[in-house]
Amino acid sequence: MIQSKLTIVVATDAQRGIGIRNSLPWRLKEDMAHFKRTTMGHPVIMGRKTFESIGKPLPNRRNIVISRNRDWRHEGVEAVTSIDAALGLIGAVPACVIGGAQIYAEALPLTDRLIVTEIGKTFDCDAFFPEIDTKRWKEVTREQYHSQENGFDYAFVTYERIQEN
Ligand code: NDP
Repeated sequence: MIQSKLTIVVATDAQRGIGIRNSLPWRLKEDMAHFKRTTMGHPVIMGRKTFESIGKPLPNRRNIVISRNRDWRHEGVEAVTSIDAALGLIGAVPACVIGGAQIYAEALPLTDRLIVTEIGKTFDCDAFFPEIDTKRWKEVTREQYHSQENGFDYAFVTYERIQEN
């Protein structure tokens, strides 16, 4: 079977923080719009805690939620018990992995591309993204911005996996 291309979509702070008490540490509306544009039309794969922090399926996207609890279910969601099962569902269709920390860590070795919103400020966080190893990942695009509303810089950055021969 041809395996789909996986893209991780994540927003990180200056210390790779991504969450606090099962929610986002910041509110950056430009990033919400970027997330929507990036994921629209693609299957989204997420951990059960991230799904519960969002609270409902993301519209116009196939929502795949990973939980070890075989009985976990929610309307509008396809529930699976492993990352492999999620990959089995999507087949060759490109998909986005949208968190959280546990699922990012497990999916990173299987991923080809990272779309990262890098926020230039440190927040109080209890969930983190793994370090992006520059021997394995190369930065291919970077758009730099400043949020007047929040008073911090942020960048939309794309990394691609360096192919090993
Ligand atoms: P996750 O969203 O990664 O969900 C964890 C759950 O996923 C586990 O409790 C388990 O569910 C299930 N799970 C994980 N690994 C496996 C596996 N191998 N097989 C089967 N099920 C598995 O939770 P985290 O706590 O790590 O991350 C949540 C945090 O991340 C929140 O603060 C959230 O706001 C933040 N976040 C931030 C993002 C950003 O871009 N800044 C994006 C997404 C989330 P169960 O317990 O049901 O078995």
